[in-house]
Amino acid sequence: MSKNILVINCGSSSIKFSLADPLSGKHLLSGLAEKLGSADAALEWKGADSGSKTLGQAGHREALLGIVALLQKLNLSCEGIGHRVVHGGEKFSKSCEVTDESLAALEANSHLAPLHNPVNIQGIEAAREAFPGLPQVMVFDTAFHQTMPRQAYLYALPYELYQQEGIRRYGFHGTSHRYVCTEAAKRLNRPIEELALISAHLGNGCSATAVLGGKSVDTTMGLTPLEGLVMGTRSGDIDPSLHEFLCNTLNLSLSEVSNLLNKESGLLGLSGHSNDMRALLEAEAAGNERAAIAIQVFVYRLAKSIAALTVALGRLDALIFTGGIGENSAPVRQRTLELLPFLHLQPDTEANLQHGRDNQGIITLGTQPCAMVIPTDEEIVIARDTHKLVSGI
Ligand code: AMP
Repeated sequence: MSKNILVINCGSSSIKFSLADPLSGKHLLSGLAEKLGSADAALEWKGADSGSKTLGQAGHREALLGIVALLQKLNLSCEGIGHRVVHGGEKFSKSCEVTDESLAALEANSHLAPLHNPVNIQGIEAAREAFPGLPQVMVFDTAFHQTMPRQAYLYALPYELYQQEGIRRYGFHGTSHRYVCTEAAKRLNRPIEELALISAHLGNGCSATAVLGGKSVDTTMGLTPLEGLVMGTRSGDIDPSLHEFLCNTLNLSLSEVSNLLNKESGLLGLSGHSNDMRALLEAEAAGNERAAIAIQVFVYRLAKSIAALTVALGRLDALIFTGGIGENSAPVRQRTLELLPFLHLQPDTEANLQHGRDNQGIITLGTQPCAMVIPTDEEIVIARDTHKLVSGI
């Protein structure tokens, strides 16, 4: 029987999927169904085969049926389906099988992530219809951070807001932080239980996490993925009075402020040019001052957060860079390390330019502590968790 797992990541108008072998870590087929709900809905895939097809006016259910048909056509099968779910709240501290009860508990959490969880639930329900009888598992972005101690997860608000409404810091990107930290321990040839790590996931969304003995002890994102670092279009930390200030002075509504902070801020807002780090580095080299400012603020805030996270660890063995920017941008890594001389992370310029490829990912000189580049693979974590749960290992 096939051990492959179909990993599904449902967005509001898209489904990313990957058929992965949890044992070898190989991706056999991956693809994207996008523009769902519009007349331009389409499916494309690559791997064992590559191609694309239009899906008409497909919604999530029809797109999943399209994926079922594709797998059948390619003679590929799977033993289970793993779903990426954004917010598990305090209810889910690890991955779990989809049952009527777990789905109801997830629904009860939806108010914590009104933009994401309903879409994830829709995807799970559609997958239950499209793949009847196949076991399904939910893997949460928040679950890894459920080990944070209360001094890290509580906001200094009236305590009843935590007790009654669940208002606290949850953290996200947990699957990615978990993957790269496990991988770092392997590469350093040391048990993860002994290590004090900081992982910086820098993509369109950015977060950094302190991981002690394999457990998350603090992270930069909070109740929502808006808190913390500067991101592609998200502001990260701001003065909490800013909402009222903008409402009063610019006459904006709360949802307009929310839109401004989530979609028009960060690298895009500061530069007025792009949310894409590659484009900003090119613009900076061509003399664009606003691009230079955006990168400077991004890097400064990242270094400041890394330094702050060391408080949760008491020491540091390795700093890990991952995500599109973390894996590919030597200048961002170099400039971040240059702001942290007191952590004794001395950049190895040559190794950094090669993204640590020939050096187990290590991009610093000396042995302890070190900085590393480790490409993330959230799908493989989801495939492994799903395999473990469906095969009862
Ligand atoms: P992700 O969300 O992980 O796909 O990451 C997207 C981000 O990675 C975007 O800001 C890209 O500009 C950035 N990125 C990808 N490749 C590079 C590169 N070679 N140099 C700088 N940034 C990059």
